Amino acid sequence: MSRFFDPFDADRPLMMRCSCGRHDSEQAHQAALNAEGATTELKRRSETAEFEAYSNEFIEATLVKALFPQDEVRRRFLRAVGKGTAMAAISSVLPVASLQAMAQERGALEKKNLKIGFIPITCATPLIMAHPLGFYKREGLDVEVIKTAGWALIRDKMMNKEYDATHFLSPMPLAISMGLGSNAMPMNVATIQNTNGQAITLANKHKDKRDPKQWKGFKFAVPFEYSMHNFLLRYYVAEAGLNPDTDIQIRVVPPPEMVANLRAGNIDGYLGPDPFNQRAVYEEIGFLHLLTKDLWPGHPCCAFGTSAEFIRQNPNTFAALYRSVLTAAAMARDPKNRELIAKVIAPQAYLNQPETVLTQVLTGRFADGLGGIQTVPDRADFDPIPWQSMAVWMLTQMKRWGYLKGEVNYKQVAERVFLLTDAKKHMKDLGQKVPDGAYPKFKVMGKEFDPAQPEAYLKGFAIQRSA
Ligand SMILES: [Zn+2]
Ligand SMILES: [Zn+2]
Repeated sequence: MSRFFDPFDADRPLMMRCSCGRHDSEQAHQAALNAEGATTELKRRSETAEFEAYSNEFIEATLVKALFPQDEVRRRFLRAVGKGTAMAAISSVLPVASLQAMAQERGALEKKNLKIGFIPITCATPLIMAHPLGFYKREGLDVEVIKTAGWALIRDKMMNKEYDATHFLSPMPLAISMGLGSNAMPMNVATIQNTNGQAITLANKHKDKRDPKQWKGFKFAVPFEYSMHNFLLRYYVAEAGLNPDTDIQIRVVPPPEMVANLRAGNIDGYLGPDPFNQRAVYEEIGFLHLLTKDLWPGHPCCAFGTSAEFIRQNPNTFAALYRSVLTAAAMARDPKNRELIAKVIAPQAYLNQPETVLTQVLTGRFADGLGGIQTVPDRADFDPIPWQSMAVWMLTQMKRWGYLKGEVNYKQVAERVFLLTDAKKHMKDLGQKVPDGAYPKFKVMGKEFDPAQPEAYLKGFAIQRSA
């Protein structure tokens, strides 16, 4: 490490800590300096009139798109009832709909000091960066973002109300609301935080085993049972003819422990969140077998949510929180901000990662561990996409692998947990015609999923856990 210490230089003091004395190493000191500079610049960008107009429109568009994922249906509806009525209907569910109106007649915040949990992964970028960039403060909130060791702990701290809101894996609120793996407690997904952004990483010794048919007996890690990671890994190996319950082992490992387990040889690979895929490449112990966007382009991963009770008791606070996170998402989506964002979230309080690892993940220009440099700009994205149909897909996979048993009213569960779909009910209550069929289809590994036919979809899989 001669870059940091030069014990033979007679003209410099030999320091084991950083030059300012506040950091453990010169490296940490540099990271803090870089973060400061990047934060200042991003703050400046966020305070321009141009960004404010952009992010207001971004939030409004997000809400309308969530309500009407199919553009044709959206246009038909707006032509029939007009913008004002549509926005009023959204406001009746979530007092966040019209930002322009909100700015003038913002309701009093019911609660200002909030604790929000997060797992240190790039999925949580919007929720994390909203803190140093002052987006929570701008809404009048005093938020503490708390780094948490694993998903089971996130669930427990939400259930005992230690956290007011949290970074969730998007299947978690479905599972908690249905009482799978814990007592039942109604949770809501306010928005998907990120799309894509995961990968299958394998240990270097498996460089010649690129066909999953060769993976019999492999041990894999996923971050949690109720995760897109678990469902996508199972889906992928099953398409190759392996039964994920008997042909491979899948164990739950908190993301920050994945790289160490790979290094120790406890696992052969993982389907994990970034930065831990890129970190394995950086450490030269693993390579990227594939990006999950290649299995399902634009798949959802993590979500931002809270309990149904919190929203009921603190509607204005929730709206303010929602706005802060969506403002951050608006900023994170823009590729020109990504390098600076990597610097902002790199320090110890947030992701605690080498900046270069985060830059590779967020810019999509990265070493794949196989000797190549790839350019995949949408490797990780922060599109708060519509998600009811995706929630139905998650439920089919829970049922496929035996997490969920018996009859399932897919649509009802999805709509109860994934907010905003409620808006449609309110519109009906107000006597407005609400078009049906707003559940778009999508493809996972080339196979079409029709959210209107979940049981038929489920029956189409040769490999599943027999009930
Ligand atoms: Zn220092
Ligand atoms: Zn995620």
